[in-house]
Amino acid sequence: MKQKVALITGIAGQDGSYLSELLLNKNYKIFGIKKQNSDQNKYNNIRHILNKIKFVSADLLIETSLIDAIKKTKPDEIYNLAAQSSVAESWKNPIHTGEITALGAIRLLESIRKTNNKIKFYQASSSEIFGGSKKSPQNEETCPNPKSPYGAAKLYAHWMVKNYRETYNMFAVSGILFNHESPRRGLEYVTRKITHEAVKIKLGMSKELKLGNLDAEKDWGFAGDYVEAMWLMLQQENPKDFVIGTGKIHSVLEFVTETFNFLKLDWKNYVKIDASFLRPAETNLLIADITNAKKTLKWKPKINFKNLIKMMVAEELNFLSKNK
Ligand code: NAP
Repeated sequence: MKQKVALITGIAGQDGSYLSELLLNKNYKIFGIKKQNSDQNKYNNIRHILNKIKFVSADLLIETSLIDAIKKTKPDEIYNLAAQSSVAESWKNPIHTGEITALGAIRLLESIRKTNNKIKFYQASSSEIFGGSKKSPQNEETCPNPKSPYGAAKLYAHWMVKNYRETYNMFAVSGILFNHESPRRGLEYVTRKITHEAVKIKLGMSKELKLGNLDAEKDWGFAGDYVEAMWLMLQQENPKDFVIGTGKIHSVLEFVTETFNFLKLDWKNYVKIDASFLRPAETNLLIADITNAKKTLKWKPKINFKNLIKMMVAEELNFLSKNK
């Protein structure tokens, strides 16, 4: 059988690294899109597999660079994971967020349409498109209602994927992924911030952890489980969007408590509330209804909330004790 070729944007991000591992195990040839002058320090997530990945220079801001990348690599599948992916940052830089997270996806869709519209396309959509949804849990039919520049940008990309699928008969799909975390999550995200700072406290490297809203509740899963759903979506006979999550919610306070429990510390002695970390607009309750993913993709999450935190704390302890 012909070796399949995948082109991945955002390959050095959390999801890009787990997806690359998955596809390498399935004997794919992998190309990663690398921005010009990209910072090599950001390649830590894929350093262990760098010799198995080929890179091609391109930028989601420049359509011609994407067309060239597709012509050079001739992919069977494209996974668009690149984005300005932080909700908080999207309030500070809404225009930049729109340029990358919304228009970047459209530039890729256009590049596929102009080169080879048989390429299968995966778009990293997000539960943030449901931010203000009155209905919970959310499924593929839930009316979107984003509550941040990030959510609005993801929604534009999401609807354009549907439009390209229906108008140009392309195999283009969106995975509506709920929050997923791992030891490779960026430090600006609350879960990683909690595990990182709590371990620093344990090791005597820090004294306190400043957080915003402890009552915020999220549907948190493990990134390694979610990339499998991305791949499965592109292996279906018909292109279709899927909601991917755990269907269970936990508060930031529960995340904090579990983390400090694993470290045998009392969180109340270290956690301080800092109003500057509160979001301009909190989302309503976001819980994934994964009925369709279970039925059609035969997918369900394997790692639960406690084991996710255990894994993140263990990895953090291992890393920080060596790099104290
Ligand atoms: P991530 O770690 O922030 O990775 C995003 C990647 O996009 C980074 O490697 C970044 O590279 C790259 N990128 C940014 N601007 C680019 C540009 N102009 N051209 C090419 N690459 C660019 O995000 P993640 O957590 O892996 O998430 C993957 C995708 O899923 C994102 O689209 C995110 O919005 C979406 N998503 C994530 C979650 C979640 O809970 N993790 C949930 C729903 C959806 P640099 O660092 O070099 O800029």
